[in-house]
Amino acid sequence: MNNRAVSDTTGIDALVTANPLLPGDESILEVHPTEPDFPYLNIRTIHISRESDRFNPSTNLIGMIIYGYRGATDFYLNNRNCKIGHILIKRSDEINHIQADTTHKKLFKWFFGQDLPPEFIAGGFAYQNGQWKYNALAFNTKQDIYHNNKKGMPLTEKQLLGGALSRLYINHRWQQDPNISVREIFSSNEGWQLFESVNTVVNPNRVDKVNKYGRAATIGVTGKYYCGDYLDVIRCSCCDGRCGPGDGCNCSGCMELDIENRRLPKGTLVNRDGAPASRSRIDGKTFYCGRPVLRRTNYCDGYCGPNNGPQCYACQALNEQTPRYKTLLNEYDYT
Ligand SMILES: [Zn+2]
Ligand SMILES: [Zn+2]
Ligand SMILES: [Zn+2]
Repeated sequence: MNNRAVSDTTGIDALVTANPLLPGDESILEVHPTEPDFPYLNIRTIHISRESDRFNPSTNLIGMIIYGYRGATDFYLNNRNCKIGHILIKRSDEINHIQADTTHKKLFKWFFGQDLPPEFIAGGFAYQNGQWKYNALAFNTKQDIYHNNKKGMPLTEKQLLGGALSRLYINHRWQQDPNISVREIFSSNEGWQLFESVNTVVNPNRVDKVNKYGRAATIGVTGKYYCGDYLDVIRCSCCDGRCGPGDGCNCSGCMELDIENRRLPKGTLVNRDGAPASRSRIDGKTFYCGRPVLRRTNYCDGYCGPNNGPQCYACQALNEQTPRYKTLLNEYDYT
């Protein structure tokens, strides 16, 4: 799929659109502006600031991932140099004394020595009582033009942050080497569920949406919606015939919620792993998600698609289930 088309046609955009990988360059992740005429911010590397505190499962933490300032991805703010993809994580009790009205503003002030300016672009997160939590509104001001006012965490940001925290921070690896490439993060599924546990463990019965069948649907560990009822139209060979409740394929009503929630363009579905997938531009029917999840061989570069070659099993399942989602593919038009 074409990331830019998503942004250009809708005009409003999630922090990072559903398919994280730029066509042709899987090592870059784009942060999209919510208004035209502002640059895309590209992330290639995640870096954990050496001034961060070490992870300890029993200590509460406050963190931020920095995307930019006034549209710049390499900038000085109060004599501090920062780049896109920098993460700062501090113990909550170490910054509590700072004068600011939220913990994320305290964190900002601790690091930059001044109050949070509206043009600062960042994501806020926390580790509280053993749970990782994301706070979309932590740095969300109207002026920063890189956030919309939707609550909740875009899937790609969950993957980026969850992957970086589990592979670089929680295991203390950052203290030897503070950097990890976006390419490495997206080369595996490790840590992608870090921020999902809040929904699934703490409050398993939380109702997020009601689907077209009138069934209450919740987000499962895959990040997809599930209602737990029977799969409609056809059975697939991979599932027990139920929509979720925690993972697997979903019914067309819940798939519709996935598409709406992620603001996906027409023709894009979400496969059973939770990855957005669209049909090959070459044959017009084979679903590909573009993720590097396949075994690399002489005949395959390791990627599912995006336009030819082998599919991952989750995208194969989408093809198998095309009759179920046919209406969505034909009629769904996000406006
Ligand atoms: Zn369902
Ligand atoms: Zn299935
Ligand atoms: Zn795939």
